[in-house]
Amino acid sequence: MKTLIKGGNVVFSKNNEILKQNIIIDNDKISGFTSEIIVADKVIDAKELYVFPGFIDMHAHFRDPGQLYKENLKTGLKAALRGGITTVLCMPNTNPPISNLKVIKDIYNRAKKLNLANLIISACATKDRNGEDIYNYEEILKYICAVSDDGNGIQNAKTLQNVLESCLNLNIPYLSHCQDETLNTHIHESEELMVAREVIYSKLTSAKVHIQHISTEFSLKLIEFAKNNNINVSCEVCPHHIFLDETNITKDGEFKMNPPLRYKNDRIALVNGLKKGMIDAIASDHAPHSQEEKKLNYNEALFGVSGIEIMTRICFTKLMEYGLCINTIADKFTKGPAKILNLKNKGKLECGFDADITIMDFNKKNIISSKNLVSKGKNIAFDGFRANLDIIYTIVGGNIKWQNGFLEK
Ligand SMILES: [Zn+2]
Repeated sequence: MKTLIKGGNVVFSKNNEILKQNIIIDNDKISGFTSEIIVADKVIDAKELYVFPGFIDMHAHFRDPGQLYKENLKTGLKAALRGGITTVLCMPNTNPPISNLKVIKDIYNRAKKLNLANLIISACATKDRNGEDIYNYEEILKYICAVSDDGNGIQNAKTLQNVLESCLNLNIPYLSHCQDETLNTHIHESEELMVAREVIYSKLTSAKVHIQHISTEFSLKLIEFAKNNNINVSCEVCPHHIFLDETNITKDGEFKMNPPLRYKNDRIALVNGLKKGMIDAIASDHAPHSQEEKKLNYNEALFGVSGIEIMTRICFTKLMEYGLCINTIADKFTKGPAKILNLKNKGKLECGFDADITIMDFNKKNIISSKNLVSKGKNIAFDGFRANLDIIYTIVGGNIKWQNGFLEK
């Protein structure tokens, strides 16, 4: 089966180029680029549109198994497609947690069968995320691409060292949710103390440590120090930490998340970190909850916001206003996460790479509303946001899965 994506502005990561090209797909792989029109079984007209490597969201909570009233694999993966996301890394704080072969195989097989976006898996770093017991990742290695106790960081430094030594041996990254729980977890220092420790332990072990959802200016400074000293540390930011701050917080739980919204100087520092290339990825930290769980007063409401299907529209709109170029923004959803997670054949438009492709229209304005979301999680932090662009096609393995407002099946 030969598919031609015709006439689009193709966003290459190499040399920051955007070129008018046709893309040839043979079955599920990109097989060439041409300015000629060739005969194909299927033609996708991308005139006036921008063609990107399929976006990767490296931080999502699909609540499956365990809390299916919040989300499940099917609704989560469909929401991803609506957001132009072709690959999702799911976090292991499910019930039961993702730390044994049976649970992992179940998720892996069900996601394969759904045949929507690609689901990739982060297993627990410690057994059932108990923060103490190390277990052998080798048995599950085939099915996972990272380990994390996300929701909590590993508090004990010796345990962290053991986890990192295993990660190094097996060539997988450790994803760290940085909050030192001996402090009030919402103060800046709780995050920064653990970021500093992760930098030190990455240096000690040489293991790849990825800091999740950094939210403070000083966390970024620590990461900058690590990168400038060739320490194997990467980081991600979430849309809410780059576009919102503590002045947005209301009396209910609408803007309650972990880490919390910070000060304006933190937010601006993160935008500048993206500009300077110090931040490797943007991820949603998609955390769907029921309305009942979020509409409580601030202290009682649950942590987290839903975001997988709106993240890319918000980020391209806002970051272009901040002066970032299309290629730089795209890298945070493509090349950046693919490199951290060692994803072969993903994150770039190149011959031989997977035909995971996102096509956007930068002239299609739309308003983001909690009322018309695909996700079960209506708890978004950007209700009413005016996006300057929309996702027109989400293509996974050469097949159109989302087309201009409709899920294809
Ligand atoms: Zn987290």
